[in-house]
Amino acid sequence: MSSQDDCIFCKIVRGEIPAKKVFEDEDVIAFLDIKPVAPVHVLVIPKKHIASLTQVDKTDALLLGKMLALVPTLAVAQGADDGFRVIINAGRVGQQEVPHLHIHIIGGPHPLGAMLVR
Ligand code: 5GP
Ligand code: ZN
Repeated sequence: MSSQDDCIFCKIVRGEIPAKKVFEDEDVIAFLDIKPVAPVHVLVIPKKHIASLTQVDKTDALLLGKMLALVPTLAVAQGADDGFRVIINAGRVGQQEVPHLHIHIIGGPHPLGAMLVR
């Protein structure tokens, strides 16, 4: 599993900084966003360091599929039982801030902030 010393999400994977984890298996973790824009705001990340969706190729298809397939279960478990948005910001134009691939799950009973994610 590749990792980056100074990557904040790799630090969460390694347990070096705390996060409210809601799911973990051998390939993937999911945790609550530190600055939620809606009642449900979960980040799903690969444990392996992938900088961005801009860096992905077909060798990542299984992992990406696994991450996406986890989304509905995680969303409902967090209370987004009436639908949700899924956002992946990628690269400069996508205004990605954290350079470790992540899926945003945004929803909840009153997801008024959902449009605020760039
Ligand atoms: P991006 O703009 O890269 O798609 O989103 C990065 C997300 O990561 C933001 O929603 C931000 O609030 C979240 N984030 C940044 N640092 C941390 C952190 O240390 N812990 C958690 N849980 N979320 C973080
Ligand atoms: Zn990383």
